[in-house]
Formats: sequence, structure tokens, C-alpha cells
Amino acid sequence: MCAKLLEGKPIAVRIKEEIKKEVEEFSSKPVLVSVQVGDNAGSESYAKSQKKTAENLGIDYRYHKLNQDTTESALIEFIYKFNSDTAVHGIIIQMPLPAAIDYKKISQYISPDKDVEGMHPANMGKIVFGKAKILPCTPAACMQLLKETGVKLYGKEVVVVGHSEIVGKPLSLLLLEEFATVTTCHIATSKALKLEEHVRKAEILIVAVGRPNLIPGDWIKQGAIVIDVGINRVEGKLVGDVEFENAAKRASFITPVPGGVGPLTVTMLMKNLVQAYKFLNSK
Ligand code: NAD
Repeated sequence: MCAKLLEGKPIAVRIKEEIKKEVEEFSSKPVLVSVQVGDNAGSESYAKSQKKTAENLGIDYRYHKLNQDTTESALIEFIYKFNSDTAVHGIIIQMPLPAAIDYKKISQYISPDKDVEGMHPANMGKIVFGKAKILPCTPAACMQLLKETGVKLYGKEVVVVGHSEIVGKPLSLLLLEEFATVTTCHIATSKALKLEEHVRKAEILIVAVGRPNLIPGDWIKQGAIVIDVGINRVEGKLVGDVEFENAAKRASFITPVPGGVGPLTVTMLMKNLVQAYKFLNSK
């Protein structure tokens, strides 16, 4: 391996230390409300780890679990209660939601000022104008990792693989804001057999698909920066979307999976909460 390992953990530790210091100066604790609908061991353990992170930073994390048969309108009503509660600064909805509830619809009912996941259409829209104060957490984590390399994005050939609303689309816009030349690839790029062609020209490659080894290591341009957002479980082990060992021989920087983007994502959530707290208290 000759690439430098771009680990999220030490960066997360540093940013969390900054958040903790800032929170200590606040006149009250920022309050984060977390809502889960129905039983799901995965989201329960995720919420537990969020709670631990939040509490270590002096944040009051309030977890609510609603019944599996909660209707969309009951969930909206539940959210409204927190929208109007001035003691609450952030609201997150744990995924997955039961099939009868449409997350895209629900995310529109969270007050944009308390939307610490950055998924409200108003916050997404602000990204287009370069005015977003609250960014979706995973794209924000990717941007932070890129910043840590010290490499300027201006004029760089960047390829994003994956065009989901949670990662690929907002990330492509954030990169454009930095004047990178951005190509966004997706399933149709692969079906048209053009993925390799795009990936090979990437000076910066960010992959967020959820398919192990989608990107063979020998597609990586010599000296490229590789950010692997993918999380896949293969034979009991977590791996990303990029064939790590071979990619690391060609890249200048590469994120590990696990330990790359993941630890920073939850940190960005807490950063958004602090932002929301400051904004709501300045109103
Ligand atoms: P998604 O399923 O919403 O989107 C997947 C994207 O990949 C789509 O744009 C689709 O067109 C594209 N795609 C699918 N097959 C492809 C192929 N063969 N070639 C090219 N593109 C293809 O997924 P998502 O929610 O954006 O998540 C993507 C991955 O990132 C998952 O593994 C997820 O677990 C991971 N993830 C990690 C974090 C983190 O904090 N580390 C956060 C969010 C998501």
C-alpha cells in the first residue's frame, strides 16, 4: 500500500472536542429528539450509539419509539409537537420506517431549522445556491475528508458514483460549489458500460453505491484520492465498494471501511445540531 490512509476517527475526535467546548459555553443544553417507528435492532443500536456520542458532548438526546402501526399522519403530528417546542433544537427520524410511511414525505414536515440531517427540501435547495448552513451528514463528512487532504478541489476532475438523495446528489452539488468538474455516475452508467471510462479519469473518486468491489483497484488513476462511502457485509466483515488493497497501491489517499466516512457522519449530525441551536437562539 502506498496511499495515505484517510481515517475518519481522529478527525471526528478533533471536531467533537471543538463541539464539546462550544456546547460548554451555551446557556442551556442543545436538545436532539430521535424518533424511531417500530422495532428494528439495527436502528435501535444506531440510536444508542448516537445517544452516547451526544451525551459525551453535553447534548441532551431524547429517544422516542413509536408503535410499528403508527400512521403517517400520527407521525407528522408527533413531529409537529417538537417543531413548536422551543426547548428542542434538532429532530431526527431513524431509518428504516415501516413500509406504510414515506420518508421523503415525512422529511418535509420537520422544521427546516431543526432538520439536523439536512434532508428537508428547503435545506437541500439552499445547497444549489451555496447558502446551506445545515448540510446532509454523509456528504458533509466526505467534504471534510477531502479538506483534510489539503488538496484544492478547484478544477479537479471528480467522479461521484451513486446519485441518491442522501449522498450522491447533494455531494455532487457541494463539489460544484468548490469549482470541481463533477461527473455523477449511477446504475445507468454501469448499464451503458461506461463506468470504467469515467472512473479511470477521476483525480478524486467518491463511491456511494452499496456493492462490494464494484470498483476494481486497477481502475484507479495513479495518485487519485478515493473516498469509499459504501458499507457492505461480506462473510461477516464490513467492506466498501472499492477493491481496497489494489486501489491503495495506486491512490494518494484512501478511506478505510470501516473507519473512514462512518465516524464522521455522526459527528456532522452533532455539528448540525450546534448550528441549529445557535440559529434558533438568535431568532
Ligand atoms: P441508494 O441505494 O439510495 O443509492 C445507490 C446508488 O448507487 C444509486 O444512485 C444507484 O443508481 C447507484 N448504483 C446502483 N448500482 C450501481 C452500479 N452497478 N453501478 C453504478 N451505480 C450503481 O444508496 P445510498 O443510501 O446512497 O447508500 C450507498 C452506500 O453508502 C450504501 O452502502 C450505504 O450503506 C452507504 N452509506 C454509508 C454512510 C456512512 O456514513 N458511511 C451513509 C450513508 C450511506
